[in-house]
Amino acid sequence: MSRWAVVACVAALAAAPWLLGNFAVSLLNDIGIAALVALGLVLLTGIGGATSFGQAAFVGIAAYATAWLTTAQGASPWWGLLFALALCGLSSLAIGALTLRLGGHYLPLSTIAWGLSIAILFGNIDGLGRHTGLSGVPPLRIGPWSLADARALYALIWALVALALLFCHNLLRSRPGRAIRSLRGGATLLASVGADAFRVRLSLFVLAALLAGLAGWLYAHANRFVSPSPFDLRASIEYLLMAVAGGLGQLTGAVAGAALVLLMKNALQDVLPLVTTRGGQVEGIAFALLFILLLHRARGGLMAYVERGWRRWRGPSAAADAAAATNAAAAAAAADTPPLPRRALPAAGQTVLRVQGAVKRFGGLTAVDDVSFEVAGGEIVGLIGPNGAGKSTMFNLVTGTLPMTRGKVEFLGRDVSRWPQQRIARLGMARTFQHVKLRPRMSLLDNVALGAHARARGGLLAAGLRLDRGSEAQIMAEARRQLARIGLAGREHELAGSLPLGTQRVLEIARALAADPVLLVLDEPAAGLRLPEKQALAELLRRLRGEGVTILIVEHDMDFVMKLVDRLVVMSFGRKLSEGAPAAVRADPQVQAAYLGAPAAAGARR
Ligand code: ADP
Ligand code: MG
Repeated sequence: MSRWAVVACVAALAAAPWLLGNFAVSLLNDIGIAALVALGLVLLTGIGGATSFGQAAFVGIAAYATAWLTTAQGASPWWGLLFALALCGLSSLAIGALTLRLGGHYLPLSTIAWGLSIAILFGNIDGLGRHTGLSGVPPLRIGPWSLADARALYALIWALVALALLFCHNLLRSRPGRAIRSLRGGATLLASVGADAFRVRLSLFVLAALLAGLAGWLYAHANRFVSPSPFDLRASIEYLLMAVAGGLGQLTGAVAGAALVLLMKNALQDVLPLVTTRGGQVEGIAFALLFILLLHRARGGLMAYVERGWRRWRGPSAAADAAAATNAAAAAAAADTPPLPRRALPAAGQTVLRVQGAVKRFGGLTAVDDVSFEVAGGEIVGLIGPNGAGKSTMFNLVTGTLPMTRGKVEFLGRDVSRWPQQRIARLGMARTFQHVKLRPRMSLLDNVALGAHARARGGLLAAGLRLDRGSEAQIMAEARRQLARIGLAGREHELAGSLPLGTQRVLEIARALAADPVLLVLDEPAAGLRLPEKQALAELLRRLRGEGVTILIVEHDMDFVMKLVDRLVVMSFGRKLSEGAPAAVRADPQVQAAYLGAPAAAGARR
């Protein structure tokens, strides 16, 4: 959003302690602390797609860690901070390693398990005061200044909230951030650009836990007392409610949601005793209703509303102007950015890919049955065959997307048969998918930049602190170059989901090219393209061959494929039927017979 909105928010927050009473300042402190936890959840659940019902456990681990260290050991709260973050980091690493591979509903269910158990654990340890907790936690001090007063603490809390927001904002616009935003696209998508989805998720999980840990540390020293109940399952659900209410799609949703939930809770606690003696229970019901209402009426949360209103007010031209300005600035910056280093391509004719006796069974069905072929450097090889012949499955074996039942794949002289997909991708194999895997809510530029993931280094910390500016500029310049190559220059900031399907396929090719591949593996790239677009695509593929890129392509359009490829491999019912130059293959009676089946022939002519 605009710079002015940020300035106005910062000014309002800075003025608040002078304008408001003690109670309101304490409430704002609670909101700030909760916002840190909700921020982690926006990242983890909203953006990363992993729902956690156990985030309060990390708040608790940190709060107890610092409370114990400062009371039982008499250490300074700053040592408490280090200890709290270390414990949160380690425990989240352990919990994450155990649970993050769980798919579907099992992950949220497992978060409930540890979310429940940790509060129970605190309540049963003698050294942690059992259910009475630990009291006498010292206030924070910075040098000579004591932060015992809520107003003094206010400054620290909100400065940390602002820094955390800035860190996460930077992170999301970086190389690891693009991987995080692609998590919902599935592990195969990330692996195809050389990223390990599990590691991306784990690092995100740890980051969210560290934010919760920071909040727990602040909580302990703000309240000067810890006990198990603020860290139980109910608290975890409340944090999740904040993230959902504020808006799982925006970082600022964490602050908005924390404010909304805590203000509402506060108002209910004021009002309910006037009408009922069972305030606690009614409060629970009121929250349940809010949750259901939100899920029905405003999935995007409060900030999605605000953003929509803002856009309507400013009009579409403002966004276009902003995009044009960043385009111009980026083009200027790209001029003096050194290009990303490129891979050495193998000499023409040298064997790039060798498939030997590949077999893939799905239960009783043998989708690929003892297929062998080779692809040489600088060659375009087409893999054709009727629908269901096993072409896509073959591609999945070559790229490591599926494990082989039997057989061997050699890529650049290495046996990659048992390698995970991301490792094969990093060796220089880039692919597109028959069913397009793009991130529809990410811009064209970000989608293509994701392809260059494996060409740069740097983790979350460097990205959040913006220490990756150099390599980020290189990646962006590369992504722009690839977009220009497929004729989408100037449309960098449009969303990938707004493109027609045919163009999305070509965008996937640009993403594959951003990886600087040795071998490009394309599954039906021309499907859904109009004739001039097909011609442009053929032109692009020929130019790539001229540059020394090797291409393996599945395509249904016979005209397209016959004119383009150097060699064809024909599959039928999982077996290799024929292989050779296009003209020879076309004349092969076996191939003609395979294509005479009615549906297959229709497909072939499409
Ligand atoms: P093509 O790409 O040549 O049209 P596919 O490789 O997609 O063919 O499919 C080959 C055969 O394998 C088909 O019969 C298909 O139903 C089957 N198949 C593909 N993927 C799977 C899977 N994941 N599980 C079970 N069967 C599959
Ligand atoms: Mg297919």
